[in-house]
Amino acid sequence: MSRNLELFERGKKSIPGGVNSPVRAFGQVGGTPRFVKRAEGAYFWDADDKQYLDYVGSWGPAIVGHAHPDVVRAVQEAAVGGLSFGAPTEGEVLIAEEIRKLLPSVEQVRLVSSGTEATMSAIRLARGFTGRDLIVKFEGCYHGHSDSLLVKAGSGLLTFGNPSSGGVPADCTKHTLVLQYNDVEQLDKTFREIGDQIACVILEPIAGNMNLIQPSAEFVQALRSLTEQHGAVLIYDEVMTGFRVALNCAQGLHGIKPDLTTLGKVVGGGMPLAAFGGRADIMACIAPLGNVYQAGTLSGNPLSVAAGLATLKLIQQPGFHAELGRRTARLAQGLADAARAAGVTMSSDSVGGMFGFYFSEHAPKSYAEATRCDIERFKRFFHAMLDEGVYLAPSAYEAGFVSSAHSDDLIEQTLAAAARALSRV
Ligand code: PMP
Repeated sequence: MSRNLELFERGKKSIPGGVNSPVRAFGQVGGTPRFVKRAEGAYFWDADDKQYLDYVGSWGPAIVGHAHPDVVRAVQEAAVGGLSFGAPTEGEVLIAEEIRKLLPSVEQVRLVSSGTEATMSAIRLARGFTGRDLIVKFEGCYHGHSDSLLVKAGSGLLTFGNPSSGGVPADCTKHTLVLQYNDVEQLDKTFREIGDQIACVILEPIAGNMNLIQPSAEFVQALRSLTEQHGAVLIYDEVMTGFRVALNCAQGLHGIKPDLTTLGKVVGGGMPLAAFGGRADIMACIAPLGNVYQAGTLSGNPLSVAAGLATLKLIQQPGFHAELGRRTARLAQGLADAARAAGVTMSSDSVGGMFGFYFSEHAPKSYAEATRCDIERFKRFFHAMLDEGVYLAPSAYEAGFVSSAHSDDLIEQTLAAAARALSRV
């Protein structure tokens, strides 16, 4: 029996579903999850010592590759000095300054330990600042698993969302309005009718949780101008896109100054670290300055801050994102070319170090379009690539991630593997 299967069966006895986060269980693609023994650069090795070229990268954090020596050294050095203090450290000041330097919209920033905490806190803050209850999110965008965000669209425009998870009272989602990504008309109508009751709009400025979906320029502009006109807080959830799509994030690419930004993944370099920040007048509402409560025993953990600082330093090397973006674009384009050569319908897209491929004629523009892709073909392709030693996200609705350790050679090897895999799907 494979050691992966053995661990999975054994794990299921002690851990629900054998995993500590659902998508790891291979629920959509079927088969046995790979248990990671160790990882280095662009690769990881599973419990059977089989090597995989990794395009998940811990779902985004591993932008400089796994176990980068600078990041590992920073964490080791920090560990020697103590693991957690529950008192402020110099590192927290340094990383806050670094984030402010890279993101001009962020005048003040607070550190937390997960993306979920960052978005949950940003929403509480927006509500506290505006004195309003309603929040707007977009179908298919994921912002972590806090109650008010686990919601699916209501039956009509301006009907509030229903819980998308057990254990979430309808009372918790009754203030959440779910709109369609890239639908400017619907957004406009919503703001005309109830704009003055909306505390905030939260979005993935480049969506990566319904596969990769880019917003139109009109959508991005409408979001900024409508929220501004109506006194609502615009929250760019850059947990995934932050420092990955560009050094100055999606907001830099869009030329938009959001009121609040949430960060995670890359900012912690693979350690549990996330952040929310933005306008100083809004951030002043957070305790201890203001009356919006937010706290954390491990917030700004010294090991996480050390990993984050080391990673932020590496990605500021000249040309880092240009090179990463070039290789990622080559991968995305190469996948679509290989599919065409194999007579398989596929399109693809990429931004910076993030990519998507879709078993459909065109890149989708909304959740509804994303769900129309050929899932059965995706599953066959996923497993064919796994057999080839290439680890893609085990879900058709997730973006892929490239790191600076994915050399041109490795990208070409991946495309050769894809050509073989596509001939079998
Ligand atoms: N926001 C976005 C855009 C995300 O992609 C994620 C996680 N994939 C989260 C929030 C939640 O982050 P975490 O898993 O660290 O709680």
